[in-house]
Amino acid sequence: MPNADYSSLLEHIRETSLLDSTAALLDWDQETMMPTGGGAVDYRARQMAQLAKLVHQRNTDPKIEPWLAACESDKTLTADPTCPTAVNLREIRHQYDRDTKLPAKLVTEFSHTTSLAKHHWAEARKNNDFATFEPWLGKTIELNHQRARCWGWPEEGEPWDTLADGFEPGMTAAKVEKIFSPLRDRLTPLIADLTEAETRPSDRFNQVKLPLDEQRRFVREVIAQIGFQFNRGRLDESTHPFCSGTHRDDVRLTTRFHETMLNDALGSTLHESGHGLYEQNLPDGEHLNTPYGSAAGLAVHESQSRLIENQLGRSHAFWTWCHPKLREYFGTKVADLSLDDCYQGANRVTPGLIRVEADEATYNLHIMIRFELERALVRGDLSPSDLPGVWQEKYAAYLGVEVPDNARGCMQDIHWSMGAMGYFPTYTIGTMLAAQLFETALEQIPDLFEQFSRGQFDALTGWLNRNVHRRGRTYYAEELCETVTGQPLSADPLIRHLENKLKPLHGLA
Ligand code: ZN
Repeated sequence: MPNADYSSLLEHIRETSLLDSTAALLDWDQETMMPTGGGAVDYRARQMAQLAKLVHQRNTDPKIEPWLAACESDKTLTADPTCPTAVNLREIRHQYDRDTKLPAKLVTEFSHTTSLAKHHWAEARKNNDFATFEPWLGKTIELNHQRARCWGWPEEGEPWDTLADGFEPGMTAAKVEKIFSPLRDRLTPLIADLTEAETRPSDRFNQVKLPLDEQRRFVREVIAQIGFQFNRGRLDESTHPFCSGTHRDDVRLTTRFHETMLNDALGSTLHESGHGLYEQNLPDGEHLNTPYGSAAGLAVHESQSRLIENQLGRSHAFWTWCHPKLREYFGTKVADLSLDDCYQGANRVTPGLIRVEADEATYNLHIMIRFELERALVRGDLSPSDLPGVWQEKYAAYLGVEVPDNARGCMQDIHWSMGAMGYFPTYTIGTMLAAQLFETALEQIPDLFEQFSRGQFDALTGWLNRNVHRRGRTYYAEELCETVTGQPLSADPLIRHLENKLKPLHGLA
């Protein structure tokens, strides 16, 4: 049985995690429920900064180093690198080494500034006023740069790497480039073929006006059927959909609705439910509030949401089950919509301005643009004031679209305002991993699609539970991919998935 130092260390970590999850709840509240007046915003920023300070104090407590050192020298704890004790020690060491390099003042300043920057971003975006956001963007870049300098990076690396390491350990800009370039080389001609094709999937599904209350009930039923448990989670509304919460039995999803955009609401809700299923099925019991009982990193998290949104939610089999449900909820309003209208409406490829509304194929180009820009911002090669212009150039070059204003341009995403730099590539790595995991699931359960068409999703979710969810933080994205699929992470499964589905829909098969 684990030694006394290990027990003391874990007790300390569990208590810190209670504070951390409290901060997560305040953050959720700020995005969904909190009044938006300046007084509320300022007070919340102070609450968040105070919690960040307490968490940092606990994470850098001098007691941790001797506990860690004693545990690391006890080989019975680390002999098997995939067992919970070894995973916990690896993760606590990683976190401790990062946290002790940051001065407390920088931690509270980062929390306080990003909490305010998020608010100013939302206002500036509403008013399409980049000038008022620009200084806040400058501050979050500068603070991120200060953090990167504290953490340091290898000589052949760059500051972006150490920021990314906080979201996906081991990820570097050079690695991302190596993963992205074969994908980009095959995606760009595919998107050109699809957008130039004479046959276009029907857009009728995206033009029908549907009452919001029915939409709310409809998406709840769909994700409950897929396995999201509402007695251990919630679904609310926010400008940008997200998944948050305090632990596996309190998972908070958000989505958004618009009369003519059921397809968007359903896609967003399915996406977040994929994150939610992961959280609700993480290891429990003694693993609660420990690194082993946590999600593996953002790329694996995103693989779970993408798989439910795309491989499941945009499949013909899913719509075979879902189409009669639409009739149940919306009656005569959807009487003219055929199954194919719905399936095609969910699979239209149209280069556009907004990442979160992008189709499955062009989505990854939005991510590549952000990766290139944030890398340049963090390096200091691009100044915040030049961002709008460069953004426009890249959207013209990569997606062939003209950006009409900054609200629909460089201010559309929340990430940079909340200080999250080094984050975006995890979306595309997760999308690739989703395709690769799903191919393996399909090899092992060949009738998955027939099951979907009958509204049966438990064989898929059971497979995800066994292969991903219950492994907690044992493996990061690339290692998990090799362990589950037997192959290194590759662009091939995603390209196969897109070609096999989208080409026939565009008369190109
Ligand atoms: Zn996501």
